Amino acid sequence: MYLVDPPPARYRTILIQDARERHATSDVPLLLPQGMEHLATQEGAVQDALGRPWHDLRISVTDQCNFRCRYCMPKEVFGRDYAFLPHRALLSFDEIAHLVATAVPLGVRKVRLTGGEPLLRKHLEHLIATLAAQAEARAVPLDIAMTSNGSLLAAKAAAFRSAGLGRITVSLDALDERIFQQMSDADVSVATVLRGIDAALRAGFERVKVNVVVRRGWNEDQIVPMARHFLGMPVSLRFIEFMDVGQSNGWSMAHVVPGSEILERLQREFHLTSLAPATPGETARRWAYQAQGAPASTAQTEIGLINSVTQAFCGDCNRARITADGQLFTCLFAQSGVNLLPYLRGGDATAKPLGRLLRAVWSQRTDRYSEVRKDVSVKARANKAEMNYLGG
Ligand code: SAM
Ligand code: SF4
Ligand code: SF4
Repeated sequence: MYLVDPPPARYRTILIQDARERHATSDVPLLLPQGMEHLATQEGAVQDALGRPWHDLRISVTDQCNFRCRYCMPKEVFGRDYAFLPHRALLSFDEIAHLVATAVPLGVRKVRLTGGEPLLRKHLEHLIATLAAQAEARAVPLDIAMTSNGSLLAAKAAAFRSAGLGRITVSLDALDERIFQQMSDADVSVATVLRGIDAALRAGFERVKVNVVVRRGWNEDQIVPMARHFLGMPVSLRFIEFMDVGQSNGWSMAHVVPGSEILERLQREFHLTSLAPATPGETARRWAYQAQGAPASTAQTEIGLINSVTQAFCGDCNRARITADGQLFTCLFAQSGVNLLPYLRGGDATAKPLGRLLRAVWSQRTDRYSEVRKDVSVKARANKAEMNYLGG
């Protein structure tokens, strides 16, 4: 990625101007390295410099959240005086729809609406309906998904479903109220989140994913109770290793509960059967689990481990992220993104070849932070963008 200015400490204010724009001409505004000029005019699905296709686009619709999860937006950093993006800086639904329409011909088949807490953005069902209609009009299968903390989901699940949302993931780190409160640092109960999950199932989502971030010393004792609670339900649990995203969550390797340990804890309690990957680039290693000694015919529930720290999966990584103010990041751990605003907003934006920019950015992508984490310099660790800004 070209980086002209040193990355600023706060991400929202910035324009990460990249060399492609600086050297722009009106027609082909991208300055591609010698020998790669052909990339700007190619058509069809795009691959990055390591041969990875682009399949997944995560869209942060707001950087704000009604939770202050200690591993994501600790109150000490994201306090009352924290300057979130002003509303006018957020991409409009039309701008997001234009971006998605441009990304689909490059191979994107899945969009995930996230944040911050996406349900803080009003009328999100309108965006979902637009994306679904756009995909239908072009006869392109587009998987529209969302990740939410579940606190406001009960009232919206049916509207999202009928607008065309295909999948919903709800984050819930503990069933124990005290542990949940300590981790989420918000005035929302476990029961409220569980009601959100129930509402989603009643609204017709066949299966709800439940994300559990496991952080040493906080909630590893919740792994088995959570698996027990959801056993037999159309819920897929995802245990996620605590990651070193951003600068604020005080991450250390000592806080990571390795997926191997999570697996051992589950195996002591349940009978697990390994499942093959359902999709290319899948981040979770999946198992079906059932009570020990239960007949094989007993309904099984799915569990997945996202071992992003101890077993990096950069080799298959097909995800890009767009921040709420229109910066494109090709890695969760990147320090900078590419500013898409000039291609999405303003008088002559529609004349600018957004598709070519996206193709060039993805074609040059070499990110593999998790694979090289140990060797990453202190400088490269500094100023990583925060998760609420990037979109998880
Ligand atoms: N607010 C929504 C939620 O919590 O579901 C969506 C945004 S949140 C950033 C997306 C996902 O990232 C959540 O499942 C959250 O648990 C996860 N996450 C946030 N910080 C993390 C960290 N440091 N390590 C691992 N997962 C993290
Ligand atoms: Fe908010 Fe989600 Fe981050 Fe928790 S993980 S603070 S719910 S954005
Ligand atoms: Fe993808 Fe970056 Fe995560 Fe590797 S570290 S899996 S490249 S987002």
